[in-house]
Amino acid sequence: MSPSSRHFHDCLILPHCRKTSQTVSLTAVSRNRLVAQSTVERKMAEGEETAVRQLRMKWQESPVCGPELYRYLAEQVPRIYCTSEKTKGLSEEEEEMVGTTLLRPLEWYLFGEDPQLGLEKLQQGSGSSQLCGRVFKEGETTYTCRDCAIDPTCVLCMDCFQNSVHRNHRYKMHSSSGGGFCDCGDMEAWKTGPSCKKHEPGAEGDTDMGAESQLEDGLMERARMLFQVLFKYTVDMLVWEEGQELPAELQPSVKEDTYYCVLYNDEHHSYDHVIYTLQRSVQCDLGEAQTHTNLIDKEGRRAVKRGTLQACQEAKQAIQSNSEHISLQPLRVEILHSAVMAHQSFALRLGTWFQQVVNYSVGFRQVFCQVSLQAALDPELHCLISRLMLCDAKLYKGARKIVHDLIVCSLLMETEYKRLFAIEFAKNYKQLQEDFINDDHERSISVTALSVQIFTVPTLARQLIEEGNVVKVIIDTVMEMLSEHLDDNNRFHFQGYNSERFFRIQVVFHDLKYILISKPTIWTERLRQQFLEGLRAFLGMLKCMQGMEEVKRQFGQHIEVEPEWEAGFSIQIQLRHTLSMFQDWCTADEELLLQGYKECYNTLMSCTNQPFKSEEIDTHMCNHVLHCKPYKVSQDPVSIHLPISRLLAGLYVHLCRSGAINRLHEYLPAGCDIAYMVEYPLRCLVLAAQVAAEMWRRNGLSLVSQVYYYQDVKCRDEMFDKDIIMLQIAASKMDPNHFMILILQRFELFEFFNRSTVSRDKELVKQVNRLTEEMLHLLIIILGERYIPGISNVTKEDVTMREVIHLLCIESMAHSGLVKALPDNENNETGLENVIQKVATFKKPGVSGHGVYELKKECLKEFNPFFYHYSKSQHSKAEDAQKKRRKLENSGKALPPPDPPEFLPAFANIVNVLNCDVLIHVLRTVLRRAVETSGKLWTEAMIQRVLHLIGQGLLEEKQQLEANREEVAFDFSLKARRIEHGKSLLTFLEKLKLVPPLEAQKDMITWTLQMFEIVKCLREKSSPTAAMSIETTDPGESIQDKEKAERKRKAEAAKRHRQKIMAQMSAMQKNFIESHKMLYESTPQAQGPGEPFVPEDSSAMILGESRVALGPKRGSGVVEREALTCILCQEEQEVRADSTAMVLTACVQRSAVLTQCRGKVLPNTETFEPLFMHPDLACGTHTGSCGHVMHAPCWQKYFEAVQNTTRNRLHAELIFDLENGEYLCPLCKSLCNTVIPLIPLQPLKLNYDNAELVGQLLTFPRWLEIVLARIKGLKATSQANDDSHEMAENQFFMESPADFRSILSFGVQATAQYSESINEMLVVCATAAYRVGLKVDPNETDPRVPLMSWNTCAFTIQAIENMLEEEGKPLFGSLQNRQHAGLKALVQFAAAQRLTSSQAVVQKHFTHLLSGLIPDLHVDGTSSILDIDLFHLLVGLVLAIPALYQEEAVDLQPSPISSAYNHLYIVQLVTMAHVVQILLSSDDPPGMLGEEEGEEYRSATELYQTLVQCTEGLSGDVPGWCLTDRVRRGVAQFLRCAGLFFSCLTGVPPPEVLSSNEVSLEGQLEALCSYLALPTNLFQLFQDHKDTVIPLLHRWCGNPAVSTALNDTSSVIRYPRKRNKLVELPEDYSCLLNQACHFKCPRSADDERKHPTLCLFCGAMLCSNSICCQETVDREVVGACAAHSANCGAGVGMFLRIRECEVVLMGSKTRGCVYPAPYLDDYGETDPQLRRGNPLHISPERYKKLYQLWQQHCIMEEIARSLEVVNVMFAFDWQML
Ligand SMILES: [Zn+2]
Ligand SMILES: [Zn+2]
Ligand SMILES: [Zn+2]
Ligand SMILES: [Zn+2]
Ligand SMILES: [Zn+2]
Ligand SMILES: [Zn+2]
Ligand SMILES: [Zn+2]
Repeated sequence: MSPSSRHFHDCLILPHCRKTSQTVSLTAVSRNRLVAQSTVERKMAEGEETAVRQLRMKWQESPVCGPELYRYLAEQVPRIYCTSEKTKGLSEEEEEMVGTTLLRPLEWYLFGEDPQLGLEKLQQGSGSSQLCGRVFKEGETTYTCRDCAIDPTCVLCMDCFQNSVHRNHRYKMHSSSGGGFCDCGDMEAWKTGPSCKKHEPGAEGDTDMGAESQLEDGLMERARMLFQVLFKYTVDMLVWEEGQELPAELQPSVKEDTYYCVLYNDEHHSYDHVIYTLQRSVQCDLGEAQTHTNLIDKEGRRAVKRGTLQACQEAKQAIQSNSEHISLQPLRVEILHSAVMAHQSFALRLGTWFQQVVNYSVGFRQVFCQVSLQAALDPELHCLISRLMLCDAKLYKGARKIVHDLIVCSLLMETEYKRLFAIEFAKNYKQLQEDFINDDHERSISVTALSVQIFTVPTLARQLIEEGNVVKVIIDTVMEMLSEHLDDNNRFHFQGYNSERFFRIQVVFHDLKYILISKPTIWTERLRQQFLEGLRAFLGMLKCMQGMEEVKRQFGQHIEVEPEWEAGFSIQIQLRHTLSMFQDWCTADEELLLQGYKECYNTLMSCTNQPFKSEEIDTHMCNHVLHCKPYKVSQDPVSIHLPISRLLAGLYVHLCRSGAINRLHEYLPAGCDIAYMVEYPLRCLVLAAQVAAEMWRRNGLSLVSQVYYYQDVKCRDEMFDKDIIMLQIAASKMDPNHFMILILQRFELFEFFNRSTVSRDKELVKQVNRLTEEMLHLLIIILGERYIPGISNVTKEDVTMREVIHLLCIESMAHSGLVKALPDNENNETGLENVIQKVATFKKPGVSGHGVYELKKECLKEFNPFFYHYSKSQHSKAEDAQKKRRKLENSGKALPPPDPPEFLPAFANIVNVLNCDVLIHVLRTVLRRAVETSGKLWTEAMIQRVLHLIGQGLLEEKQQLEANREEVAFDFSLKARRIEHGKSLLTFLEKLKLVPPLEAQKDMITWTLQMFEIVKCLREKSSPTAAMSIETTDPGESIQDKEKAERKRKAEAAKRHRQKIMAQMSAMQKNFIESHKMLYESTPQAQGPGEPFVPEDSSAMILGESRVALGPKRGSGVVEREALTCILCQEEQEVRADSTAMVLTACVQRSAVLTQCRGKVLPNTETFEPLFMHPDLACGTHTGSCGHVMHAPCWQKYFEAVQNTTRNRLHAELIFDLENGEYLCPLCKSLCNTVIPLIPLQPLKLNYDNAELVGQLLTFPRWLEIVLARIKGLKATSQANDDSHEMAENQFFMESPADFRSILSFGVQATAQYSESINEMLVVCATAAYRVGLKVDPNETDPRVPLMSWNTCAFTIQAIENMLEEEGKPLFGSLQNRQHAGLKALVQFAAAQRLTSSQAVVQKHFTHLLSGLIPDLHVDGTSSILDIDLFHLLVGLVLAIPALYQEEAVDLQPSPISSAYNHLYIVQLVTMAHVVQILLSSDDPPGMLGEEEGEEYRSATELYQTLVQCTEGLSGDVPGWCLTDRVRRGVAQFLRCAGLFFSCLTGVPPPEVLSSNEVSLEGQLEALCSYLALPTNLFQLFQDHKDTVIPLLHRWCGNPAVSTALNDTSSVIRYPRKRNKLVELPEDYSCLLNQACHFKCPRSADDERKHPTLCLFCGAMLCSNSICCQETVDREVVGACAAHSANCGAGVGMFLRIRECEVVLMGSKTRGCVYPAPYLDDYGETDPQLRRGNPLHISPERYKKLYQLWQQHCIMEEIARSLEVVNVMFAFDWQML
């Protein structure tokens, strides 16, 4: 069944170790009861025990217990199973019955006594197994050691790994897909450290008894007898195919007439189809149908109907016809008699019973193994286990799982029986594979998946080859399966193949790889013979591939159908390692190698593909004649698949390497037909060249893809590389001129170089030029590529090193990038680690990106621009990079060929090609055309290649000369100087410098000419005669020339010296920039564009220089005139109250970053009154801004345009929520959902004399009085309009009532007036805060609008304060400019917002807010002061109080002096309340000892005593210093917030200490108090306002809510509030994986794969992305993560998906993105999906970055950004996570 994919990322399958690819059902096991029941149960069943004993006696008496037992089962089993009317599974009751009536007697019989006792005895006597054998659950982490595992399929469980030596090795971790088992203790799985501490021989509990002797004789006899009967019964019943009849011996006495209609699982029908069919056919409801379907999928079959035969037949027909409608195939339905069903169920139950029994003791296990492998009496029949295996494909899923588990825990746990089982397995191999291929179940539930457990064991593999020739068996199997694809010529042809079936067949290739994975160290003659037999079979298969799927160039029109090519290549890819392993096995000894070569050669010779069509002809060039048959790749068929040619090339190299080549003639007396051997690889290379020259365009993409793979890293080592080797073999064996002519012929370039006139067809010339380039490149490769052990004297390490160097010459690369670009071996190793340190230096990653390796300078000289593994684009990138580097170093742009290693003797002749007449002619011709003709017949690329070839020739000559050999016959330079038609190659070369289009090659030409000089000098030194002879043959070179050259050389040397110095200097300069670049770049990033904000020291401050923000001594605000540029129209404008509004981009979001009770269920916001913020700050409203400014009209236009265009865009709603007014900042693409209007700061100058005067009158009590009077008066007025309410009496200060209007007498002024545009924007912004903060529909007239504006202002300040403290930054001056601008704008907005609301509403809010402090204002439901966040209250009071000045007809607001006093007294009042709040809630034990001296302590004690008196439940007697300490620490957050608030509100610069990093808490408090006009000793306030405050204290503390809260200490918020952190993560990622593997879904008990996901905010482990844990939030079904984040993060979430090793950021319900986990491997890379599996360790920097993302409210922004980048074609349903 294929359920529609509901798992996120499930499609991405990890590269698994094979041993974990088998599945195991654990439910079956967990359902079991242990054989031995508890004592209580035992007693209860006492009565029955007697019956059981009698039964047992009866069995024991009869000599053969079989028939008796069968009779018993025949009667009992149908009575227990399948009796209920329902088609449900076994009920608890039935299970109980099975235990007591069926299993317990068996156990009694087995032990001959109480099974509990027997078991105890057994366990005392037996040792534990030394194999771990733990079967992996799906998702469990498995480990393998790259240093010690024999092959990558050897794995350990977490426990064993943690206790093993491999912990400190290079390990890999993967999450298992289920099945497979731990290899701990298997001596053959590990090179070292085969056992962990627990499974070590001699470890605790291990008695190391001899095999079998563990059971006493009687017990063993009984076990044997019982197992024989029961296992036979199990097998008989499981393989039983008659649905309606039973075996004769199981016929019950009474046969009921009940049947079942059983539905089977298949892979064709989806969940929904089955559910639909069931609903239609068997009349069940949706729920039932779903249950059935789930269980069918899980167990493989299920009875869906019970009834008479006829009823069942009808149901069967209905199901089949209904399912046929939907899908082409009907569902499989069988009708089973109830007794058959019953016996099959019990047989399965016995399967799990056996699993338990064999786990009890090694003795039982061995007996079981013997029984299951015992040859049947009838030689025609198989042993029991084979019978089971052979019907595996017929069994249903659930049964298979149990059988496989049983095999794993019995036969595979015992070395000797594993061997016997392996032989049985191999015997049945072909049949099993055929069954598997015709079956439709996944491989993981096929018995064939066990092959990996057998074939990878080295000794077993060797035995299986020796005794069963298993290599041949495997190949024969695969050949038989592929035989349908053979064409008339006995070659494979895959057109129209069935890809699904083909995919299954490929599995067999894995087995071939497994069996070869460990090369034997000991070779017997038999092994040798069998291996060669296998090799012959292998060659037989390769022969069917040799020349398969040939292609023919298409002329005229494009091909109609792209031919299928994938099948051929996937076989090639599958065989890649097998091919190299066969070669490797052949090298075991010389004999084998020679034999193998001979076999391979003979096979090649017998291939008859792509024959020549015409007879041999002679071709002449440069006085050489080649006698060969013509073949045109561009006209005749060619094939890319030449595995035999390539295998032969590979073996040839091995021959050379071992020296066995010298004995080859003994095996192939006739010698080798080199021309034939090279023919096909050469054609293939020409094909690739012609495709590159675009000659095959009409053959479509399939050919391009094939050529791509031919050279790609996945295939090249057994394709392209081997073809090159074959050409090198030919070049070393053939006459060099003949070889060159052959190449020219096959490239179809012979004419081009043989004639002087060439075609005028432009297209054709272009083609020929491209071909020439390709051919020259191929020659460079043949002559220069020597990095293969056997071709030159290099090691494998050298080869890898060279690959790495060339990759790093393109650019610095990450470790994983390198691994991907290097070929791996059969153990998935690339050898990178062994060499990387030698050639590169590691550059660590920053907080993003990854670590990279940078090539060491000294390796640059190895660079070869024509490196043969470069693709076209890599070639040009590398060349550019190296040229650029050289330019920087001022060292000239020449990229000469590097010094190559010397060929081994067998290949030494290749260099003669460089020196042969035909090549010199070719080079000469190209140069001549460049010099003599205009640029049609040559290209720069050609010249480059020619120069490189000349360079190679000169280097070779130089090396040979330097080696001081007597006679150096290699005379490339001499040939180059030879004059033909008046000019030599050298002459052309010199003239080349003057060809203008070759400017870029000038340096290279110069280098080449210098080389000529050097070689000439060397030659003169070694053999003067030879040099003399050139002199004579070359009259153009005179002595004068020589002198000139000498002078030139000196000048050149001086120049080089100068250049070197220059290069050094420039390098130093560059280093300086490099090393300071980080600093240079990171500064603006951290600080934002521009300078950090520093309060300006304005000289305008005269009197107002005081740094006090409130009260009569208030300083002047700094009013800078701001002229800002609109980012949209680029026009500058001054921010003024009366002009068009300027707005800042802004984003409002709900936030839980400060919450003190994470996960609190948030109130329903529709009705919620946000008047008082609870001090737990569970959910605040944050407003952030990226600080970019626009004109309001510009923004409006932009916003409308965005709305219109994105509406039409696909999935645009995922990026931003149009309904919620979201847009991206036009400049920085931050996510925004509103704008904040910029309000200019009003210049406030105080007249200090007046202020002082007012102060004498307006004392604190007086102020309170007139405020209360005003409130009362306003109420009266409002109630005069609305009589329905009784006048509320305020008893506070009633004795001296103040006048209703007296508040106005201390100074008023007209309210500020703002332009229409600003007012409009004020409404926009306030509505956004209201709408988002409360999650409600916008309504600008709602009375809660002003409250939300104040709240978001307060909360944003708290969040910023928190962030600054957390990062250890000073309160002032460390915000980025744009952050500070945003904050200032927000505060000014919050202050001005009042003017757009109804003043009556604001007045009412003020009254209510004040009632939080003055409880007598008689507002309903007054909160206790413990339940109010006082900073929110402070902001609300300060921003609302101006509304009190409003007169009915006149818009008034307080004058600066009035404001100063209002602020002063509000701050004092709120601060006092906060101090009380701190003292009431604080309970931390006194820290250090303090002194009892001092005024502060005394006043503190006094206050506390008062509090104790009026508070119920407050414990007294806390020392004064302790109180002071509590208050100081507790009040800091509040004061810091207040400081920020007033500095933004008034613009008064704060004391300088607050901008300093080094200030102590004491110093900071002192400065803040002075700034806020508070006494440093806050207790002083209570003294000063004693009369006013005492009654207040009584009311605050007397609130019953306070006492209740004090009793329930858990809910009290304490100060300072704790700062939230992300949960602590373990250093080692495997710890998390371990946790994940023990994770159990809280809601379901099944063993389905779960996705444990960690909430990084609170540490909750969730079961994400799974139906079981979905919840309904806001009437929508969402996944566990979405539901969790609704409360935990107020809508945003940050989760770590543990198995995937990815962080998921969740925005609103519908949005999210993945983010790299903060774990890095040793190479500085993250590993999403754990694909690479390297050990991972936490990166604190990255985790901190995630923390900041959260604290700075950037999660939404990050999501928006990622969604913008990712093409959201496949929208992921984030809310289901
Ligand atoms: Zn283990
Ligand atoms: Zn172990
Ligand atoms: Zn190891
Ligand atoms: Zn503008
Ligand atoms: Zn921006
Ligand atoms: Zn959480
Ligand atoms: Zn769940």
